[in-house]
Amino acid sequence: MTRQNNQPLGGNQMPRFGGPATMMRLLSQETAQGLDAAFIGIPMDIGTSNRPGTRLGPRQIRDESRMLRPYNMATGAAPFDHLQVADISDVPINTFDLKKSVDIITAHYREVLSHGTIPLTLGGDHTLTWPILRAIKERHGPVALIHIDAHADINDEMFGERVAHGCPFRRAWEDGCLINDKVFQIGLRGTGYGPDDFDWARGQGWTVVQAEACWHKSLMPLMRGIHEQIGDAPVYLTYDIDSLDPAFAPGTGTVEPGGLTTIQALEIIRGCAGLNLVGCDLVEVSPPYDPSGNTALIAANLLYEMLCVLPGVPQTR
Ligand code: MN
Ligand code: MN
Repeated sequence: MTRQNNQPLGGNQMPRFGGPATMMRLLSQETAQGLDAAFIGIPMDIGTSNRPGTRLGPRQIRDESRMLRPYNMATGAAPFDHLQVADISDVPINTFDLKKSVDIITAHYREVLSHGTIPLTLGGDHTLTWPILRAIKERHGPVALIHIDAHADINDEMFGERVAHGCPFRRAWEDGCLINDKVFQIGLRGTGYGPDDFDWARGQGWTVVQAEACWHKSLMPLMRGIHEQIGDAPVYLTYDIDSLDPAFAPGTGTVEPGGLTTIQALEIIRGCAGLNLVGCDLVEVSPPYDPSGNTALIAANLLYEMLCVLPGVPQTR
């Protein structure tokens, strides 16, 4: 290591409940200049269809990240030894106008990506992934997608609107943001409007792994298969916290029982090591429905795990 990278503020330098309210109590800076990876919040819930509150998600995830330490004891990853990372605050969305907000998000990420930085986004409702993918496409071309969610989020419209948190992957598909034979949706479940709700995606060549196919088993074999199919293509990872069973993560807007475990979430993200990740997000944390803080705490940990599998971070175990 020739340069001095930013480090999370340690618990022996400042009590865990004090210090800066940034992700992992990292330094904050205004732009992504000089950063290999950046944490960014999108405090938005105006795309939600049921319970609101994800506008408060980024702030709560940052708060619950305060106990995260720099080394990953399971994988040996030491992200801060290899990457320059900071928290670059939030995207100033227009909370009165969702359509303007998606354009604000794309312009913001265009600027972030111009520095060669990998964005790790704290959501915010799932609408935000579409405008991020538009900016990602401008820089990297179409990408492979690993989408973990209880829902397919491929509606053509919701309540007559084409921009909403149930539509982002339909819009991204329309915009040519995705490599269709390298799209994976994992954890889908619950009730639908028709028995073929998930089949539109399959018809595009996407792989849909419903939650029931994940029950009672390790997801490491699934991730090995995904590696084979993606190869060295650029990959975007989008993680909707409602993919987890509500026993683990009740603090979200559209809850479905029978979901993934936190152990499976770790297997999925750790299973992304070695992929050419160009961006990641963690969306749909709604603090008003998260009285214990556990949902935001899990989200903070999963964002840290994403940082640990970015290109340039060796896995030593
Ligand atoms: Mn979603
Ligand atoms: Mn969902």
